[in-house]
Amino acid sequence: MGSTGTHILVFPYPAQGHMIPILDLTNQLATTGLTITILVTPKNLPLLHPILSTHPSIKTLVLPFPPHPSIPPGLENAKDLPANYVPFIMQALGELYEPLLNWFKSHPSPPSAIISDMFLGWTQHLACLLNIRRIVFSPSGAMALSVIYSLWRDMPKVDQNDHQLIFFSKIPNCPTFPLCQVSPMYRRYIAGDPLSEFIKDGFQADIASWGLVFNSFTELECVYLDHLRKELGHDRVWAVGPLLPPKYDAPKTKVRVGPTPVSVEGVMTFLDTCKDHSVVYICFGSQTVLTNHQMEELASGLEKSGIHFIWCLKEPTRAHDGEGYGKIPLGFENSVVGRGLIVRGWVSQVLILSHRAIGAFLTHCGWNSILEGIVAGVPMLAWPMGADQFTNATLLVDVLKWV
Ligand code: UDP
Repeated sequence: MGSTGTHILVFPYPAQGHMIPILDLTNQLATTGLTITILVTPKNLPLLHPILSTHPSIKTLVLPFPPHPSIPPGLENAKDLPANYVPFIMQALGELYEPLLNWFKSHPSPPSAIISDMFLGWTQHLACLLNIRRIVFSPSGAMALSVIYSLWRDMPKVDQNDHQLIFFSKIPNCPTFPLCQVSPMYRRYIAGDPLSEFIKDGFQADIASWGLVFNSFTELECVYLDHLRKELGHDRVWAVGPLLPPKYDAPKTKVRVGPTPVSVEGVMTFLDTCKDHSVVYICFGSQTVLTNHQMEELASGLEKSGIHFIWCLKEPTRAHDGEGYGKIPLGFENSVVGRGLIVRGWVSQVLILSHRAIGAFLTHCGWNSILEGIVAGVPMLAWPMGADQFTNATLLVDVLKWV
C-alpha cells in the first residue's frame, strides 16, 4: 500500500494482553504510510517501547490518568490491579473524553479515524461528534466476543443463578457454559447501577462502531467472524492476527529464578540443558495472581509428577490482599532443584514457547497465550480463571480439540 498521509489515533486499553497485540498492529499500519498517534497515560509510556517500533510516523500523545476513587494513585495498568478493577479502569479512562476532544480540536491535522480497544466504547461517541470513523480493536477472539455480545444483549433474560447452563443458540458451533464461567463484568447488568450502565453503554457503542478488528485469523474462527458480520449487519469485521509480541525481554533487568536473580539468558540456558519437548511451561498471563490454595495445588502436582518445568509467576501487587495470594509453599523450591525453575518477573513468553525443549504449556487461556501456543505448535493444558478465558478454553478443547 502506498503512502496515504492519513492520520489515525490508536488508543489501547492499559493491560499488557490488550496493549501487545494493538501495538503490533500499529507497527504494521505504520509501514503502510499512515501517520499514527498512540494515546497512553504516563505510567504506560515505558510499556510501549519494547514492542512499538521506532517508525517515524508513530507519535505518542500522553494524557494524565484521571483519578478514580477506587484506584490507588499511581496505578494505571491492569497488571498492577486485581481483576475486579477492570470496570474502574474503564470508568477512569472515560474521563479522558474532554481532554481528548480538546486535543482533536486544537490539532492542525487531527486524525480522521480512531482504532480503540473494545473496553473504550465511549470513543465511539467522540468519533460520532467529530464525524469520523471508529474501529473497535478486540484483543479477544471472535467466539469470545460473540458470547460477550450475546450475553450482554440478552442480559435481562439471563437468570443470575451461577449453575445455570447458557445456550448460545444463535452462535454456530458454540458449546454451552455454566453462568459461573462467565466473568461477572460480562453477565451482570443491574439496571440503575452506574457501573453496569457504563459497561452496557460501552458495549452498545462498540456494536454501533464503524468496524471491528480482531487479533485472530480466518482459518481459526471463520464461523464466529461470519456470525458477527451477520449480527452487526455489515462486513467490516476483520481478522488481522495472529498479532504477536517480538521476542523481547522487558524489563531489561534480571529476573529472579527461585530465590536467586539470574539473567533471562539463564532461563534459556536451563532450557538448553533439557531434552526436546520435555519441559512444561506454566504461565497465567500478565494479570492473574494465584490464590495460596491454587499455589499449593499446583506446587503439589509439580512435586509429585517429577516433570521438568518453568513456572513464570506473577507476584501480588500492592492492591492485592498480600496474605491470600501468591505464596510459594514452604520447601517447594528446594524439592524441585535441578528440574524446575520458578521465575519471578517477566520473560518473553514467545521466546520460551519457541524453544525446542518446551513440550507443553499450562495456560490460563488468555487469548494472546492461546494464539502464541498455537503458533508455536505446543500442546496446551487449559486452566481458565476468568474474563474470556473459559470461552477460549472451550474453543481450544471442545471445538479445535487441540491437544
Ligand atoms: N507475557 C509474557 N511474559 C510473561 C507473562 C505474559 O511475555 O511472563 C505475555 C504473553 O506472551 C502474552 C501476554 O503477555 O502476549 C499475556 O496476554 P494474555 O491474553 O495471554 O493474558 P492476560 O495477561 O491478558 O491475562
